Amino acid sequence: MKSPTFAYERPQSLAEALALLAQKGADARPLAGGQSLIPMLALRLARPSVLVDLGRVEGLDELTLQDGVLVIGAMVRQRQLERNALVAEHLPLLVAATKVVGHPAIRNRGTLGGSLAHADPSAEYPAVALALDAEFVIQGPRGERVIPAQEFFLGPFTTALATDELLTSIRFPIPPTHSGWGMAEVARRHSDFALAGAVALLARADDGTCARAAIALFGVATRPLRATQAEQALVGRPFTTETFREVATLATESIDEPLSDVHGSAAYRRQLVPVVVRRALEEAAQRAAAR
Ligand SMILES: Cc1cc2nc3c(=O)[nH]c(=O)nc-3n(C[C@H](O)[C@H](O)[C@H](O)COP(=O)(O)OP(=O)(O)OC[C@H]3O[C@@H](n4cnc5c(N)ncnc54)[C@H](O)[C@@H]3O)c2cc1C
Repeated sequence: MKSPTFAYERPQSLAEALALLAQKGADARPLAGGQSLIPMLALRLARPSVLVDLGRVEGLDELTLQDGVLVIGAMVRQRQLERNALVAEHLPLLVAATKVVGHPAIRNRGTLGGSLAHADPSAEYPAVALALDAEFVIQGPRGERVIPAQEFFLGPFTTALATDELLTSIRFPIPPTHSGWGMAEVARRHSDFALAGAVALLARADDGTCARAAIALFGVATRPLRATQAEQALVGRPFTTETFREVATLATESIDEPLSDVHGSAAYRRQLVPVVVRRALEEAAQRAAAR
């Protein structure tokens, strides 16, 4: 199906892009890689009268390391994340997550910021941002604001962004050296959206117990979320299969609004949660031990 008609603007600067969004109001939509927005237009799930293409806006595609924080521009393409040396060295979790986002053709165009702003509850990047305690830099007519990932995702395809604001970059703190990451998901085919997924980050204390745990779930609730009960239960415990099994069952307690759709019922997704959490924890513990 073809898209409905729309006007097209291609600003060169952030100021110009923000002015266009302010001027056109709720009828305008930013266009990043178009991998979610264009299908939505074709399916008539969105009908903006004007698209503001961010592709030429200067400064949105930078990737820098600043005082232990990887700052990634919203327009950095997913393919760049997959191949960038700084990301590979400091945030291999982001590389692993990128490899299961769609297919190469999608990742060539799709952007990090586009995926986060789209806020699909089954997408990988939002859960990665939650687990890593990333911060979202937002620009709008009222200036800049920075919010933690925990406050960004409000519901399915709904974020804290106002219609006249843009996500400009994401700040990922680099995890300490004695930590390890793991990620596990169940999808019908490789690179499909997950029916259930988990991202885990574990920090190891000198005595071999868990000093800190972050567990983020995706594909199981109406928004990505942290499994806080499971995280708390893990702190101070040894990294054993027994512990992980026990803690993984607690992860379902954080699911306040379960996701249920044609791809999988809420009950089925719930059953998958302990499985993906345990796998992600075991992977994270192995990496933490190796370091
Ligand atoms: C066949 C297929 C399979 C896919 N599989 C997966 C998958 O397995 N996992 C996964 O996570 N994703 C998957 N995707 C989605 C893909 O990752 C998209 O690239 C991503 O969701 C959107 O990024 P984009 O840059 O294309 O954004 P766009 O489609 O251009 O925009 C998406 C939304 O975000 C808004 N937006 C974009 N940038 C900004 C910004 N800087 N500030 C404010 N708002 C902004 C747009 O207005 C729009 O509402 C798949 C897509 C397809 C077509």
